[in-house]
Amino acid sequence: MFQTTIVREAATQGIGLHTGVYGHVRLVPAPADTGVVFRRVDLDHFAIEAHGQNVAHVSYATSLMKQGVLLSTTEHLLAATYSCGIDNLYIDIDSIEIPILDGSAEPFMQMLERCGIRRLRRKRRYLKVLKPLEITEGDRRVGIYPADEFRVRCYVDFPHPLVGQQEIEMVVSPETFRHLLSRARTFCFERDIAPLRAMGLIRGGSLENAIVLTNEGVMNGPLRFPDEFGRHKALDLIGDLALAGLPLLARVEAHKAGHSLHTQLVSRLLADPTLWTITTQAHEEAEVDTASVGLPSYAAPAAD
Ligand SMILES: [Zn+2]
Repeated sequence: MFQTTIVREAATQGIGLHTGVYGHVRLVPAPADTGVVFRRVDLDHFAIEAHGQNVAHVSYATSLMKQGVLLSTTEHLLAATYSCGIDNLYIDIDSIEIPILDGSAEPFMQMLERCGIRRLRRKRRYLKVLKPLEITEGDRRVGIYPADEFRVRCYVDFPHPLVGQQEIEMVVSPETFRHLLSRARTFCFERDIAPLRAMGLIRGGSLENAIVLTNEGVMNGPLRFPDEFGRHKALDLIGDLALAGLPLLARVEAHKAGHSLHTQLVSRLLADPTLWTITTQAHEEAEVDTASVGLPSYAAPAAD
């Protein structure tokens, strides 16, 4: 398997969900071993790698920060690029937050279709998990386990007539992501809107970019899937796992988790190199040839 980038540039624009700031995003091809790198074009192209070492404050969205430069709500765009197997990419952005668009990853998938995918001459490197890692906070937990493919299982349980218990399990590929998850939109509860606004969040939120759940039902239906909420949580999980910086060979389980637990999992995983290895072979039978791959140009970040 070889590394990839995109063939041609594509752009989109829109308002940020939390900041309400309008921004323009452009996807730009990048050379092998670049990884996925955000560039704040409004700050002299300041680069922020899509990597666990740059995870900042995480609550209702995932934010990256490097040397005081912030970028919010990276998860939906990264879920699309990661699921599509795009190893190298510049994401140029002229604001502090990735546009929310319709609240799902579908507009980003459409962008990537316009871009096309180019295979590069360098072998792809995978982060292969060797030992389990679990994080528990009360009744919420997330875990990562050895596997020969990238698989996720996501369980949610919200006490609401339209939500309740929902569970998604899948091997992540461009096809499964497109069909099962990409169209699932972000959501919030009507009762949380005022408190979130008071916290300075969801300034760009509207009925156009988030499902709003009332006590009994949904304010702006119809839903795209009966279990759209569980699907969106799985989308968020994949977008946060993208911060591993390399494609994962692992099974990830999230139980009533969220961005905070997802990103803690990535940070703790990267901080402990005894839990994983880097290989250019996706499948075990070929690994004999790759023992010498080691950790080229990849440094595990310090804890946190
Ligand atoms: Zn989301």
